[in-house]
Amino acid sequence: MSFEAAGLRPHLLENVKKSGYLKPTPIQKYAVPIIMGGRDLMGCAQTGSGKTAAFLLPMINKLLSSQEGPVVDGSTSQPRVVIVSPTRELAIQIYEQAKKFAYNSIVKTVVAYGGTSVSYQKNHVLAGCHILVATPGRLLDFVKRGHVSFASLQYFVLDEADRMLDMGFLPNVEQMLGDASMTATGERQTLMFSATFPEQIQHLAGKFLHNYVFICV
Ligand code: AMP
Repeated sequence: MSFEAAGLRPHLLENVKKSGYLKPTPIQKYAVPIIMGGRDLMGCAQTGSGKTAAFLLPMINKLLSSQEGPVVDGSTSQPRVVIVSPTRELAIQIYEQAKKFAYNSIVKTVVAYGGTSVSYQKNHVLAGCHILVATPGRLLDFVKRGHVSFASLQYFVLDEADRMLDMGFLPNVEQMLGDASMTATGERQTLMFSATFPEQIQHLAGKFLHNYVFICV
């Protein structure tokens, strides 16, 4: 499969080419059609495999297709995509890639992480975004304060799930996945990526992914 054959929109294909991606990596080859087909996914993938684009491309493609703006209801932002990342560095990398793929389009991406000013990031979130990339603590804080709601959520992505487990974030993550299940009104896909599959991660997948496809490259 090439990026063209995956059925990505022309504007997105142009941005993929501009990013220097000529052909898909194995995880992209398998994951992109599965996500575009509407399935939940558990992907076994290491950093460096190209997993970030594997989940960003189908989601951005969907957002471009609907051409709907970001939803903000009063003082609550309702992203369509939430990507949870264990570290600030990884969150920023995902954010940078999303910005490249969504370049010159309606799709807005915001990043939020701990250790920096809450009000600065809150203002960005409340200005409206389609995609919110966040670390677990900061995201949970924003949800608790009512700055972020999962009501318009179409995709929930958990990246590097095993590292979240190692860092003690699993209770936070489980709480948010539970919230998302309760709050999201429309159809929602859940995608999880992890390099290893300890029991707790398998349990999490079993609990929150529905009829999911497991791929290991
Ligand atoms: P990731 O595993 O998502 O962190 O990606 C690792 C690195 O590979 C990043 O610097 C990406 O920009 C790059 N990359 C991902 N997919 C491709 C591709 N299809 N062609 C060239 N570079 C890529």
